[in-house]
Amino acid sequence: GSRGGGPGPQPRARRVLVFPLPFQGHIDPMLHLAGVLHGRGLAVTVLHTRFNALDPARHPEFRFVAVPDGTPADVAATGRIIDIILAMNSAMESSSSAAVTEALASAALADPRAACLFIDANLLAVHRAARKIGLPTLVLRTGSAACLGCFLSYPMLHEKGYLPPRESQLCTPVPELPPLRVKDLVYSKHSDHELVRRVLARASETVRGCSGLVINTFEALEAAEIGRLRDELADLPVILAAGPLHKLSSNSSRGAGSSLLAQDRSCIEWLDAQRSGSVLYVSFGSLAAMDSSEFLEVAWGLAESGHPFLWVVRPNLVRGCCDDDSVRRRRLPDGVEDAVRAGRGVVVRWAPQQEVLAHRAVGGFWSHCGWNSTLEAISEGVPMICRPDAVDQMMNTRYVQDVWGVGFELEGELERGKIKDAIRKLMSEREGDEMRERAQELRGKVEGCLESSGPSQIAIDKLVNYIQSL
Ligand code: UDP
Repeated sequence: GSRGGGPGPQPRARRVLVFPLPFQGHIDPMLHLAGVLHGRGLAVTVLHTRFNALDPARHPEFRFVAVPDGTPADVAATGRIIDIILAMNSAMESSSSAAVTEALASAALADPRAACLFIDANLLAVHRAARKIGLPTLVLRTGSAACLGCFLSYPMLHEKGYLPPRESQLCTPVPELPPLRVKDLVYSKHSDHELVRRVLARASETVRGCSGLVINTFEALEAAEIGRLRDELADLPVILAAGPLHKLSSNSSRGAGSSLLAQDRSCIEWLDAQRSGSVLYVSFGSLAAMDSSEFLEVAWGLAESGHPFLWVVRPNLVRGCCDDDSVRRRRLPDGVEDAVRAGRGVVVRWAPQQEVLAHRAVGGFWSHCGWNSTLEAISEGVPMICRPDAVDQMMNTRYVQDVWGVGFELEGELERGKIKDAIRKLMSEREGDEMRERAQELRGKVEGCLESSGPSQIAIDKLVNYIQSL
């Protein structure tokens, strides 16, 4: 197929439908993929749930269809992703099933006709509906290749007794999934392990039964893990590592486009006035939460570190504190207020993260190590302090620290003295500098992937050809 910058756009011969799971870390990569495919001449329809509905006005290049997903309001209100995934799928398989099939069928018939549907691995109900109308589904995995390997191995991990994890075995290596240890595996610290098991069994079924798999990673980052997936899923017609998608997509689908919370861009002006590499960016993604005592330790750690910081405090960052007002009432400690008044610190509700990480003033990232945040940091050569909370964040941390060497884990109880030490290590000690150098090298590999003959561009070429063949 021709690329943007090639001999002009091809006729919009085919359409693709995309249906993301309605959470920030899943919506963004799906819309980036949609942007990439649109840039290669395909028409795009975005299907979305009423829960966390998307705003069509922000993407005039796509057609949008709201699907009546039937997710019960009380479950949606909990914000618990595992519960929401199960409830949403179950509603789409029972009460809303006819409506889902109908929405898919009419979206697929729009001119030009749809070749296939891309879904999140967590939407087995949608995969089943597509199968009923004979529409091929491809899965976009928004996590790492290693993470998908863990999903697929979940039954084996239980049979062999690695899971559910026992306290005494947390540091035991899992030789079937090197370099992971038991504590790096996907498991739940916060909710019922059986629910996690059910969700992952469904995700595996979706992946094993689909007509092709795209993973938001790149060959140079996870060669062994991608190779293992190709062996394990040898029946799938295509398995493509086509990331980092946010670097491949056109501008309109980047940044603010798919943000569920409004981005506060005032922090960019502040960054412009800071010394190069001096600022620590602190964000724990869209879902990770902490207790109010931990929140205070983070605040004091930042205040006492002496380093400039940009901190994202979203409404539900503190457990049991779900709206802006309750966060505001729980005033930030004096140390942080002083730092903000002195211009040394900035606190925002939601940041334009990709732009922040690309800013020359940012020298480090304290992250929960969600996969998108990890890829975004790697893409800009920013080293990390890792504070994983759940799902794949523990294994992402393992890779960041021990495989790629671009960051380290802040372990154990959150305490201001330890936080200060970690910040100092990352921002002003030799170890941090070495991580920064390795992060820059990795960034070079990302750039290699994105070149016109790079592996991720070639993966997209193959994908477009495959879609046209369906
Ligand atoms: N993000 C953002 N602004 C913020 C915090 C996060 O735009 O202030 C974006 C971030 O760039 C990333 C996504 O939200 O693309 C979070 O995804 P990730 O996989 O890192 O974590 P999750 O939210 O799924 O735990």
